[in-house]
Amino acid sequence: MPELPEAENICRALDRSLRDEIISKVEVFTPKMRTPLEPLLTASLEGRRVVKCVRRARYVLCHLDDNRAIVMHFGMSGVVRVEDITVPRRKHEHVFIHFESGKIFRFECTRRFSLLEVHELESNGVPAILNSLGVEPLEDGYTPEYMLESASGKKTAVKPFIMNNDIVVGIGNIYATETLFASKVHPERAANTLTLKEWQLIVENSRRILKRAIELGGSTISDFLNVDGSEGKFAQELSIYGKEGEKCPVCGSQIKAVKLGGRTSAFCPACQK
Ligand SMILES: [Zn+2]
Repeated sequence: MPELPEAENICRALDRSLRDEIISKVEVFTPKMRTPLEPLLTASLEGRRVVKCVRRARYVLCHLDDNRAIVMHFGMSGVVRVEDITVPRRKHEHVFIHFESGKIFRFECTRRFSLLEVHELESNGVPAILNSLGVEPLEDGYTPEYMLESASGKKTAVKPFIMNNDIVVGIGNIYATETLFASKVHPERAANTLTLKEWQLIVENSRRILKRAIELGGSTISDFLNVDGSEGKFAQELSIYGKEGEKCPVCGSQIKAVKLGGRTSAFCPACQK
């Protein structure tokens, strides 16, 4: 599933490709993905200009010049591409958005869990459907003090706590697992038992790990924007995720795993307290 770093890289690539482009035509080839696609045809997108592309959580928003945005989420198998008309439509490409320059934005999704909708923007620049999301992990609101405060009274395990999008968005299983290992915090600790110092480590490590993943994903993305869920080169830098039964790279103890919130959580029983 595409995580925050993939969404960030898609967003940057779309911003490079589509900023200031003017929409000339919309084609829909299948009735729905996660939600119906036909509203795109009657949304009067023709003539609108893309102002900029921004990311919120794992959503990418193409802001238009009329205070609306094309909102997309890549589900399990969403792939977007910007190509021209000389490339034939692929079987699972459900939507083409044509631009006056001849570019075409194409959305492919084999499993149809993706989303592509047009929404009005609220005064904060975000559509109402995304208003309840927590803070962005790469922005200023994500601080040790904020996490300590949010965790007050919460007996839930720290790993699902940092993966909860109501608190902080986009820290998926891989990044939560790696962050807790780097911070020497056991994934089963109750969130309300962590100290400010431990939250400081978690905030710093999660930022560093997400930024590194964005950096490594960035090099493989150009006009062909692949969001097939692979972790790209970052997978080679994982310390502990998916390595249960192997030796801890720090102390040599055997890496264990527990299920938390339905997700496998690898940890080192010696390093993580
Ligand atoms: Zn260890």
